[in-house]
Amino acid sequence: MTAKIWHPFTQHGLGQPIPEVVRAEGAILYTDDGRAIIDAISSWWVQTHGHCHPKIVAAIQQQSAQLDQIIFAGWTHAPAQQLAKGLSDFLPETLDHIFFSDSGSTAVEVALKMALGFWHNQGQDRHRILVMDHSYHGDTIGAMSIGARGVFNQAYAPLLFDVGSIPFPDQGCGQAALDALTAFCADQNNPPAALIVEPLILGAGGMKIYSPEILAEMHRICQQHDVLFIADEVMTGWGRTGTVFACEQAGITPDILCMAKGLTGGVIPLAITAATAPIYDAHFSEDRAKMFFHSSSFTANPIACAAANANLQIWQDEPVQQRIDHIIKRHHDFARQLAKHQNISAIRQCGTILAFEIYDTNGDYMSALGPALLSFFAERGVLLRPLGNSIYIMPPYCITDRQLSTIYSVVEEAIDHFA
Ligand SMILES: *Cc1c(COP(=O)(O)O)cnc(C)c1O
Repeated sequence: MTAKIWHPFTQHGLGQPIPEVVRAEGAILYTDDGRAIIDAISSWWVQTHGHCHPKIVAAIQQQSAQLDQIIFAGWTHAPAQQLAKGLSDFLPETLDHIFFSDSGSTAVEVALKMALGFWHNQGQDRHRILVMDHSYHGDTIGAMSIGARGVFNQAYAPLLFDVGSIPFPDQGCGQAALDALTAFCADQNNPPAALIVEPLILGAGGMKIYSPEILAEMHRICQQHDVLFIADEVMTGWGRTGTVFACEQAGITPDILCMAKGLTGGVIPLAITAATAPIYDAHFSEDRAKMFFHSSSFTANPIACAAANANLQIWQDEPVQQRIDHIIKRHHDFARQLAKHQNISAIRQCGTILAFEIYDTNGDYMSALGPALLSFFAERGVLLRPLGNSIYIMPPYCITDRQLSTIYSVVEEAIDHFA
């Protein structure tokens, strides 16, 4: 008997088919039964330039024949050094300490540990983490603790640590969120260690959008009260919201910034938690007990770093921003077209991400519409994976006009079909 594969976020009991992909190129996935599928969600928000970009493929091939893996505690290598140097062209000047890990979840865990260590090493008793309602920061226990609670983490709820939650700053409710943040920050009995947010758009929480002005104001309140500000740019980073990082649109520099998904062009796992000098300095000492106690076996794997360097090179050499701007314009036009439909609502766009809700009485993640829509799209050659009754499009930047048009027309077909 062969062992069975247990897929993530998959209810095997429903017996839904699991298509097999054998090859991919650009925005297209090719299946074992000879179909070509348009990857309209960038393979779960990671792919930026498209599948099997030749420069990233070449970088991985070269690096894997040169130096494949090396311990990073007390040792170093050129691909990591080059990446840290290259990132300074993309990050604010003060985010100049680069810590490596392997996934978005670990980048977030590292950020939390950095923030807690920052206060601990200065002899301050600050442990409370502030979060925003509906946020998602990953699936490890720490990341789940600071994320929205629901059916996803019910089984583990008693083990998740307490946080301070501020309401999501929905349109017209921004002040309530800011007031809640101020109240937490000013609480002398339990001063917070840090606020962590997904800037401008909450991904897994349902593609919920809020303004750069609110983001800037949250940052200002944290600064005013000496509360660290952590930006989880795991999804938003590398162009997704229209700028390389979403924080740019609010004109803010967080104390700690997490990135992962698009860092290697979405090809191979790698994550970075970037921190400012004060965070690093709080761990800098002749006292070994104050060092930053975090590592994983593959920290700064040279092959992954080489892929990330190729990603940075592509951003420098190719018209990536133009491709992004073009998607933004096409989405904008399609959003106007969508507005003519009756049974949909909450049409919203943040950079290359376009989302809306299809009418459903049970409009949460467990909405029965989700799986039905998923199959509907798959049968028509488009990979779209709605979040409950929220449909969103998040294509890789290499998507062609024709491919975008196909996605749009299949989406309109679905709206009519499920009306
Ligand atoms: C995907 C995601 C994570 C988790 O990243 P993984 O690489 O899947 O662990 C964390 N934060 C945000 C905002 C994400 O979208």
